[in-house]
This record gives sequence, structure tokens and C-alpha cells, in this order.
Amino acid sequence: MKIPGTMRAAVLTARNEIQIKQVNVPVPGPGEVLLKVAACAVCSTDISLMDKPGPGQPDFGEFIPGHEYSGTIAAVGEAVDEVKIGDRVAVEVHYGCGRCLNCRNGNYTSCLNWGETEKGHRANGMTAPGGFAEYVVNHISTVYKIPDNVGFDEASLITNLGCVLYGFELTGGYIVGDTVAVIGEGPLGLLSAQVAKILGADTVWLAGLDDYRMGIAKELGIDRIIDVKPEDIVSLLKKSFNTGVDLAVEASGSEPGMAAAFRIPKWTGKVLLLGIPSGEVSLDMHEFARGNKYLYTVRGEGRTNCRRAVSLLKNGRINLKSLISHKFGLGDIEKALTVHKTNGNNSIKVIVNP
Ligand SMILES: [Zn+2]
Ligand SMILES: [Zn+2]
Repeated sequence: MKIPGTMRAAVLTARNEIQIKQVNVPVPGPGEVLLKVAACAVCSTDISLMDKPGPGQPDFGEFIPGHEYSGTIAAVGEAVDEVKIGDRVAVEVHYGCGRCLNCRNGNYTSCLNWGETEKGHRANGMTAPGGFAEYVVNHISTVYKIPDNVGFDEASLITNLGCVLYGFELTGGYIVGDTVAVIGEGPLGLLSAQVAKILGADTVWLAGLDDYRMGIAKELGIDRIIDVKPEDIVSLLKKSFNTGVDLAVEASGSEPGMAAAFRIPKWTGKVLLLGIPSGEVSLDMHEFARGNKYLYTVRGEGRTNCRRAVSLLKNGRINLKSLISHKFGLGDIEKALTVHKTNGNNSIKVIVNP
């Protein structure tokens, strides 16, 4: 594979301003690989990092966003024997410092040295160059081989699935025969409902409002699609399940969604927060605490749950293809970002193919 000296990349030049520039192709160091990017999905985190830079984010004029991507190994650095040139791979975002207590306990997505590159932490597309470019360098620990039956576009979404799987792992994971209610029909909501089915839940409900996305949920075989506002789901679920559900997954990030998620579990039931609220929210903690309920939060796609995601994809157990609503070339990245931001034309996941 011939690697050029320069490449096209989408560079964040100022707040909310992205430009296609010609930049040097990065060279992989020891333990690193160079990927030729095939697909990079737009995520709401990209939009917020373009608006308000996060800790450790490279300066304007240097930062290439994009953290959900897949591609082909184009070169390998010293001491890499896990993959070879030509291998098809997908990536996860987080590479922990390896020296803080969280990393040493395996919780590398919550690295305590987040953004401190000199201490070894790296998150591609957040604190290091990302995938809205022709090439990108990743640490080998963040790379997962994908088989030929898995397409690059769907493989770019393994972090979404990995995040959902990590969430289910943290809640205890064993939900065979349980009732699960998912609030929010975005990518994480649609994936959570699918994952609950795969893990053997008795009944899976999905509450949301967007007709197009709820149509997709129906096609995915979710047991019951509830076309109601989060506020109304409470009485509906209480009526159907009497004591409440075993697990509520909040994937909307909205205050009404969270308020509903806190109310619908039965006593000793669980709430998994996948949606992250943008600010303070008001919740009924009296009822929650009195009901002996449990709350779980999740950061990223930890504990190598991306490997589990690839396994589900490889075996055809999960459908990521139907989440892909739009595709653009790298030159049209601004259009791609706009479609994602405005939810235009029924967008779910928007993919950029450099
Ligand atoms: Zn993301
Ligand atoms: Zn760490």
C-alpha cells in the first residue's frame, strides 16, 4: 500500500468552523498503527467539541475531529504484531494512561489523567487527531479486526454499541426474563432495545416520538413501541406492569426522560443513564431512595466492550445498518454535520466516507 506524504483532513480552524485542508500523513510510532479511514460517523460529541473544546483538545487549526471510524491498516509501527497491513479494523476512542488507579483497575474510559497526553492518555477525535481525514494513527490497544462480512459503515458504529453493552455490563448484565423500558429513540435507544432483546429480556418497550425512528424500531422487532411523551410513559407502564419494570434505560438525555426513568422501575429496580443531560435536572429522589432503586452511569465503551460489539456484528446478532440514514464524502462534511445537528431528513447516524 503506497502512502502519500500529505492527505485531506477536516480541521477545526475556529469555533464551529471546519475546513478541508491538506496536512501531513501521520507516522505510527511504537505500538501504533496507521489506518486508511473508510468511514467515520458523526456523533453529538463531535458537535459539542466543535462548539466548546474539551480538556486536552488540540488547538484550533490543528484539531481533526471524528471518533467513530473504521478502515484498513496501511502501516504498523514498531512492536505491532496483532494486525498486518491490509487488515480491516474498527476502533474505540479511549486509550487510558495505564498508570492511574482507574486505568489499573481496567476502567480506562474514566482515566484520571484524561487529556494529559504527556502521561500517555489519548482519545482519538477528542484529545488527538480523529477520523474525519484520509489517514489516522491509533494505538494498537484501540483497534479491533473486523471480518469480511462486516461493512466499514456499520463497523464505524461499534463505539455506540460498545457503550450500550458497557452500560448493561455495569448494571449486572443478567436480564433474562426481565422487563426493560428504553426511553429515547436515538442511536443509543435503538441499540439498547436491541441489546435487551439479545440478552433475553422478557419484554422490551421503547418510548419515543420521532415517527421515522419509531418505524425503524418496529422493523427491528422491539416488542412494544410507545409513541408518547416521557411524562406519559409512567402511567402507561405502571398500568401494564403494576409494580414497574426491572430496568429503565434512559437514552434521551432530556429532563422529562430522566424523570420518567427514575419513576418506572419497580422497587429494587435499576436505572441505566446513557443519555447525558446538558445541565442540572430536578428528580424525585425521595421516591427513588424509598424504593431501594439503583442508578448506573456509563462513560464511553469501556472494558473492551467494542470487542463484544464486533462479535455481535460478525454473528449477525445485531442490526447497525438500519441506523445509517445518510452518507457523504469528506468534502461535504459541513453538510453531514448540519444534517446531524438539525435532524434533517430523518437522520439517525450520518456517515462520512473520506
Ligand atoms: Zn460518539
Ligand atoms: Zn489513566
